[in-house]
Amino acid sequence: MLENRVMIDEISQFVIETMSEIDEFRVFPIHELRNVKIGLLRMDSTRKHAVCRYHRGVDKNARNGTKDVRSIDLHPLVLSEKWGSYARYLMFHEYIHALGISNHGARFKRLDSTWPRPEDKNLGLDFHRFVSRINFKWTWKCQSCEFSTNRSKRSNGRYLCRSCNRVLVDFPYHSGS
Ligand SMILES: [Zn+2]
Ligand SMILES: [Zn+2]
Repeated sequence: MLENRVMIDEISQFVIETMSEIDEFRVFPIHELRNVKIGLLRMDSTRKHAVCRYHRGVDKNARNGTKDVRSIDLHPLVLSEKWGSYARYLMFHEYIHALGISNHGARFKRLDSTWPRPEDKNLGLDFHRFVSRINFKWTWKCQSCEFSTNRSKRSNGRYLCRSCNRVLVDFPYHSGS
């Protein structure tokens, strides 16, 4: 899990540096993106690979920028060497949302098209296939908090909850639960 943090920081730094060199982003307070909290999606999220979440009560049509953002969540499986380019593109895409452009309209598309490696967008389909092929069989659950994570293998008492330090318990996996 520590590796995840290191990887998230690397991706974030790379993307912010890249954005600061693109003319179209000069009008935005790019440095504020460093304050955006990065979290993780569920392991079995096949269609959604990244999301920008807003604070409760923020008007959908009046999002102003990073202060409205609760977190950007990435799929945990993009945090690997193999999916690095896709992870960087996803972060870029969500950072544009975080700057206050919440829909996928013309302005968003114009900014999104400035990513120096446009082919990275196409990795979404491959990643979708990759996640869909994983055979989730077990849900590891913490008995004292809400934490749970879906896996193909049993935990067998080998893993602890990061917040409670309690052993995670195996339950049969149900998709969508
Ligand atoms: Zn989007
Ligand atoms: Zn816990």
